[in-house]
Amino acid sequence: MTSAIDIEPTSRRIARNVILLIGDGMGEAHRFAGQLLAVGRDGRLAMDRLPVSGLMNTMCVDPTTFVTDSAAAATAIATGVKTINGCVAIDSHGRQQRTILELAKASGRSVGLISTCQITDATPAAFAAHVPHRADQSEVARQYIERVGVDVILGGGGAHWFPTGRALPAEMAGASHWRGIGADGDLVARARELGYEFVCDAASFQASLRRRRLEPGGPLLGLFAAQEFFVQTAEGLGAVYDPPVSLADLTSAAIDTLASNPNGFFLMVEESAIDRMAHQNNAPLTLKGVLELDRAVQVALAFASRSPDDTLIVVTADHECGGLAVAGSLDQPYPYEPGGGLLDTMLAGEDGPFPVAGTGYGFVLGWATTGHTAAPVPITAAGPGAERLSGSIENTDLFDALVVAMDLAEVAVASGCA
Ligand SMILES: [Zn+2]
Repeated sequence: MTSAIDIEPTSRRIARNVILLIGDGMGEAHRFAGQLLAVGRDGRLAMDRLPVSGLMNTMCVDPTTFVTDSAAAATAIATGVKTINGCVAIDSHGRQQRTILELAKASGRSVGLISTCQITDATPAAFAAHVPHRADQSEVARQYIERVGVDVILGGGGAHWFPTGRALPAEMAGASHWRGIGADGDLVARARELGYEFVCDAASFQASLRRRRLEPGGPLLGLFAAQEFFVQTAEGLGAVYDPPVSLADLTSAAIDTLASNPNGFFLMVEESAIDRMAHQNNAPLTLKGVLELDRAVQVALAFASRSPDDTLIVVTADHECGGLAVAGSLDQPYPYEPGGGLLDTMLAGEDGPFPVAGTGYGFVLGWATTGHTAAPVPITAAGPGAERLSGSIENTDLFDALVVAMDLAEVAVASGCA
């Protein structure tokens, strides 16, 4: 008889570092369309070259729907507990649930959050704050700095950090007319009191990074836009995605800063335009979001290649958005099957055509909805613990896999999160 001990690997590798990259709303078709556009039918995005792949179910436990929002989805990933839509790291009974980021911090690791959305929006929020409704973004910000001490915070949404009516730093406001909309006082001043370095434009960010290379350490708060890094509309109505700092550069900077901790780090990177542009059925900028995320994945992989035995990289989504479908743009009707062909394709695919890289033909994209769907999302991974993410899994299984990968079970028990 084989005992459990016999089949346990004798020297299981621990993920000292974890980089979790989330494409908000990024389903299988979003990834595939990004591939066709960037590297063609035989190429693979960096995120699709990771050795372990699976499909992750995203449904929530909301009594009114099975389709999740980003708050419930991120809560499931971050805490291992499914909840109702709108809740941030709070379960369906109103109880706060410890998050993987909090457990990583308790283990001595440094922790970071990055988003091209408001950094206090639902996806990052569920990793380091507990609020009953995702709209409480100033409270989320306060908890990041006062309660958790998130070491690196980089993204948009600066308006939530300043008191209502207060003029924002000009670099942060940009061409927008945003003023502060915060409900918790001047949280940037509070962050500085707590030792954070604050930056809000690319130049001061780069200067900070140069200083940090000579003298690492100290928490970093970078808020580069009053709200999102983009303007979300349908095509032709003013949509813009021209980020003040690229997601790849933010990821590189966060890794440089966090990696100075010999205990390792946990970093969550969110690309949010995929979801927000899919809500607008804006295909070109949805695809731009996918490719922005892929460049961040390349940065994460480059770091992991320098220390391949101790960094787990996971790329996934919180849910699908848009019910996206990919079809050929020049297809002839199939001779022995009904339907199909260019006319039907154009009816079903309202966006495009986009070129398939390296070919003479193209593809079109069709949308089923301007909302989320419950379609399972791809998950790919590399590094210690990645093997637990293959096959068909639940979003809550990702939390469990990260606990095992970072060897946090004892920390979880000690914190009442068994
Ligand atoms: Zn959404």
